[in-house]
Amino acid sequence: MLEWNIQSRAHQCQGCTSAFKDRQPYHTLLFESTHGYERRDLCESCWKSSSHGAKPELIAEPSFVSHWQGVYEAPPAGRPDAIQKDTAETLLRKLLERRDDRYRAASYILAVMLERKRLLKIKSQLREGNQRIFVYEHGSSGDVFTIVDPDLQLAQLESVQHDVANLLEHGIPQDADAVSQEEPFNPPSDIPSLAPA
Ligand SMILES: [Zn+2]
Repeated sequence: MLEWNIQSRAHQCQGCTSAFKDRQPYHTLLFESTHGYERRDLCESCWKSSSHGAKPELIAEPSFVSHWQGVYEAPPAGRPDAIQKDTAETLLRKLLERRDDRYRAASYILAVMLERKRLLKIKSQLREGNQRIFVYEHGSSGDVFTIVDPDLQLAQLESVQHDVANLLEHGIPQDADAVSQEEPFNPPSDIPSLAPA
């Protein structure tokens, strides 16, 4: 079973372990593993050098799925910790951390929203059985988001957009934590609708 998740960009090369500098170009490789997708970030010279696996060798690995180039951005020095309403991005991160099938469609819609805002860039489209997987990279943090295509029908779109608006306005319902893995799939309409403020 495929894991859909977020994988942060490394702050150092995973070949030679030297720290990435601000604006340094790097290479991201995605490999398939038993736990889902595994990401490897390499500096330019490790990407090229044969000691850590030259480009043709890495790409020839049977588990290889994708490669792209990025530019490292040093993280901002301090981040305000004030409690604030979720943005599309923070909500997407929370939903993906839950790995709850109920939020699959909402996660997809949020990724599309963020792509339109140019915060996420699509890097790859993969196929896992009959499922399509979108691999997005966050423009400034370099985090990689793997999103399962929910195969939304046009008729479902409105209700999913409504769910997303609700989640952005009110956050993820508290009871979502208590739901056990054994419970059957609940359609989004089962999420109690909150009266508008
Ligand atoms: Zn390196």
